[in-house]
Amino acid sequence: MDRLRQFYIDGAWVDPVDGTAFEVIDPAHETVIETISLGGRADVDRAVAAARAAFPSWSLSTPAERMAVLERLRTAYEARREEFAVAMRREMGTPMRFSRAQQAPTGSQHIDATLEAMADFPFAAPSPRGGSQILAEPVGVAALITPWNWPINQVIAKVAPALATGCTCVLKPSEFAPLSAHLFAEVIDAAGVPAGVFNLVQGDGAGAGGALAAHPQVDLVSFTGSARAGTAISIAAAPTIKRVALELGGKSPNLIFADADVAAAVRWSVAACFANSGQTCDAPTRLLAERSIYDQVVVRAAAEAEATRVGDPATDGDHLGPVVNRRQFARIQDYIQTGLDEGARLVAGGPGRPAGMDRGYYVRPTVFADVTPDMTLAREEIFGPVLAIMSVADEAAAVALANDTPYGLAAYLHTGDGLRAARVTRQLRAGLISVNGGYPDVDVPFGGAKQSGNGRENGAFGFHEFIDWKSVTSGDGAYVV
Ligand code: NAD
Repeated sequence: MDRLRQFYIDGAWVDPVDGTAFEVIDPAHETVIETISLGGRADVDRAVAAARAAFPSWSLSTPAERMAVLERLRTAYEARREEFAVAMRREMGTPMRFSRAQQAPTGSQHIDATLEAMADFPFAAPSPRGGSQILAEPVGVAALITPWNWPINQVIAKVAPALATGCTCVLKPSEFAPLSAHLFAEVIDAAGVPAGVFNLVQGDGAGAGGALAAHPQVDLVSFTGSARAGTAISIAAAPTIKRVALELGGKSPNLIFADADVAAAVRWSVAACFANSGQTCDAPTRLLAERSIYDQVVVRAAAEAEATRVGDPATDGDHLGPVVNRRQFARIQDYIQTGLDEGARLVAGGPGRPAGMDRGYYVRPTVFADVTPDMTLAREEIFGPVLAIMSVADEAAAVALANDTPYGLAAYLHTGDGLRAARVTRQLRAGLISVNGGYPDVDVPFGGAKQSGNGRENGAFGFHEFIDWKSVTSGDGAYVV
């Protein structure tokens, strides 16, 4: 059977037990480019059994042994990095320059941050008062369920800490980004990761995803995706009391104050909202401009959007590509129409494809002004290149409106006043704060507040999802680490 239709279980490529065919569509041309299998319950059972069987020896391996495996994984990943960039271009339409510069490097970046964190992580350490030992023990078998928008970033942000902490795992990537995940399983194999430690089952949410979340032999689900799926997974996981770490969506505010470098702030803000065709969980999608600069911000943002090019992901350039699939395209079109229907003022872009494009899931970079807090555009995650601009009277109103969302993933602010930046930062309910265009490295905790989830990824912060702490106290001092 074609390797792409197989799953990677217990160190080997195996035919699906109850897999159904699923076509992978190139979003730039709307053509079928590959066919994968969507696994079912029997495939999940097999993968979980392999992870379970591998757990006793992997969980007892030393951090140094696991570091050696991760070093080999990094080498194997780097050897095929260009293929990852191409795979993401094919499956989700990421323009090659962006795929090479932003998407593909995240794999090694996460492995590096994991290795750095392992070097001094307290896997076994005395308790603060010295009377006990505290051991960081792996939770067990981890189900890793990932989205399509930063596919390799999300896969390796989960696999690296799972392996680092001694967990074994079953990865179920998004059915809309199966190619980069398949390639990653090949890299795992090439790196000599012991059989059963990492397993790959392709599938959708209703099938393999749900089966993993409910599986009695899975100890932990680490999930990144929509709030809708996060809720379903939490419910499916509840009867077996498994741990569920959720990295969900956002509707992140972006505050531009009158004392900022307005031209630079708007240029950065529009580019950051549209990057990856707007398909980024922490994108700054709500622009809150202080009233005295509001008109200027709107005019500048419209000009930036009009200057944003959209084109074929295979050609070199800094243009945006299509969005991932027909469903997302239709969803974004609905949101643009809703914006018009609810009375927001369209200042750039709008419905339909960009001029001259009649094929591919391409969306016009779109900006709405005069968005009010109750409008759909201000409240819901659109996941496309659509920016909503709102006016705020002053700092207090900006903070209140910024926090007026069920989400809390990121918040951005632009100001020339450092004291204001500190003051506002303290009041914003979000996991990631960016001041004047800053963006963090992968050694800081990544995750959100409120309905953006309860998990934290990256480096040592990501280890905690995969750890059960164990204390050992000896009555006569006989226990030695
Ligand atoms: P999605 O929730 O539709 O799918 C994500 C994954 O969950 C896929 O693998 C899917 O097959 C699976 N899934 C769907 N329903 C399921 C169910 N009932 N049970 C088990 N698994 C299920 O999300 P998506 O469209 O792939 O990704 C976009 C979403 O991901 C956005 O909301 C975005 O904000 C979010 N996201 C969050 C982060 C973060 O770190 N916070 C990062 C990237 C993306």
